[in-house]
Amino acid sequence: MNLSPGAAEFVLALAGLCIGSFLNVCIHRLPLKQSVVHPGSRCPDCGYALRWYDNVPVLSYAALRGRCRSCARPISLQYPLVEIATAIIFVLHWYAFGPTIALPVRLLFACAMVVLFMIDLEHQILPDVITLPGIVTGVICSFFLPPGPLMSVLGVVAGGGLLWAIAEMWYRLRKVDAMGFGDVKMLAMVGAWLGLKMVLVTFVLSSMIGGVVGLVLIASRRADMATRVPFGTMLAVAALVASMYGEGLLAWYLSRLGA
Ligand SMILES: [Zn+2]
Repeated sequence: MNLSPGAAEFVLALAGLCIGSFLNVCIHRLPLKQSVVHPGSRCPDCGYALRWYDNVPVLSYAALRGRCRSCARPISLQYPLVEIATAIIFVLHWYAFGPTIALPVRLLFACAMVVLFMIDLEHQILPDVITLPGIVTGVICSFFLPPGPLMSVLGVVAGGGLLWAIAEMWYRLRKVDAMGFGDVKMLAMVGAWLGLKMVLVTFVLSSMIGGVVGLVLIASRRADMATRVPFGTMLAVAALVASMYGEGLLAWYLSRLGA
């Protein structure tokens, strides 16, 4: 394949914007248990049915200056932000995977992580409708791609088991639920897609991200030690990093240990 420089990045960025637009629909509707394909998008305030030209990623938001064409109430900044973030994530995947069969598979995984990130941030839930089929799909893909079926199944057991054990211990010590089982199923899904090694990397990274975010929130007095942090958001970020850069990070870390 002979692509002119930047062509692949351009195509992936465009695809990311369009798919990000669909992810917005999933983020909005899945917690409400609504269909993500029917009916078409409407203004949540006045019910105006969006025309195609109201639905162009980022551009429509900019052209309408962030307001509904019909009732002029503000449209959430979430919509263009998710579209732009998805586009960036798609291009980063191109740099990480190049023209391989792993590229579309890991892009699918990344889309699930974007949706889980946003839903956990807004509703503090991680819908089974994503995580459970996610576990199955991850294991199926592992028959054709790394990490392979054995590592994939071990990833499910380790990811799910690790969080389940922590939740159980925490419950016995403090008599409070540290996290919902949504987190357990989500880390099991990450294990299915990324395998045993990377699910452990994801867990360590997510704890580090969680620690930093927690300290910043406490320092800025937006939270105290008892604030419930949506752990799924940290897991989503950590899993994306592990998916793209985990092998490199781990090799670097192990080489530092050996030095
Ligand atoms: Zn409206």
